[in-house]
Amino acid sequence: PGARWSEGPVWFGDGRYLLWSDIPNNRMMRWVEETGEVSIFRSPSNNSNGNTRDKQGRLITCEHGTRRVTRTEYDGRITVLMDSFEGKRLNAPNDVVVHPDGHIWFTDPGYGILMNYEGHKAAFELPTCVYRLNPDTGEAKVMTDELEKPNGLCFSPDYSKLYIVDTGASHKPGHPLHILVYDVVDSARLKNSRMFCDMAPGSSDGIRCDVDGNVWASAGWGGEGYDGVHIFAPDGDLIGRIHLPEVCSNLCFGGVKRNRLFMTGSQ
Ligand code: MG
Repeated sequence: PGARWSEGPVWFGDGRYLLWSDIPNNRMMRWVEETGEVSIFRSPSNNSNGNTRDKQGRLITCEHGTRRVTRTEYDGRITVLMDSFEGKRLNAPNDVVVHPDGHIWFTDPGYGILMNYEGHKAAFELPTCVYRLNPDTGEAKVMTDELEKPNGLCFSPDYSKLYIVDTGASHKPGHPLHILVYDVVDSARLKNSRMFCDMAPGSSDGIRCDVDGNVWASAGWGGEGYDGVHIFAPDGDLIGRIHLPEVCSNLCFGGVKRNRLFMTGSQ
């Protein structure tokens, strides 16, 4: 479809379609399984990035351009869930997951305000945090601010662990390009951060766990033989790779049996 930077894939089993973001083109796209047709789902999308669904099936979206997290209601209206923290604007929410208890966990590395390509260049008002948001009350708490660029994130299948990608600062040498793992305490806090895997010489971006707890990590900026998807066992061992001819930004499982992997690329 001529995308410039695809991101945020999310599967809608009820409609048998995939949605994703094309950030620089300021639109969201839809692929329909039955026909294979690709069309525009939303334009403008406010430079949307990460997407997921809440436990009621509603679309949850990170927007760079408007620096907010939104929910799309069943009738199509868009509800702003969060656009600031303690009176300061969010940087540019990147990726998002929903816990079974309804809380929305998202990262705010601010790539959408670094330059105009993926949003609108602006000054950072907040540290690059991971937040946990109660969508009913609007209350949010910082889960961690220790990552340089918190990006993709996913829970383990039992929700006892949270994986977070740190994409560091523009892939400069010496900056962290690893995936961290945390223990989730009382579904509400993180503790015991440690390195899960080192993604050097490239970086991951978006990640998903499969039902066995393996971590499927998009991989890019490492060149041929590296770019694609790297799969890690729960102990961090690299157990497989999918090679792609370009950077992979993110991925999700879909299909009736959830055994189809959708990968968003740089085109
Ligand atoms: Mg991302």
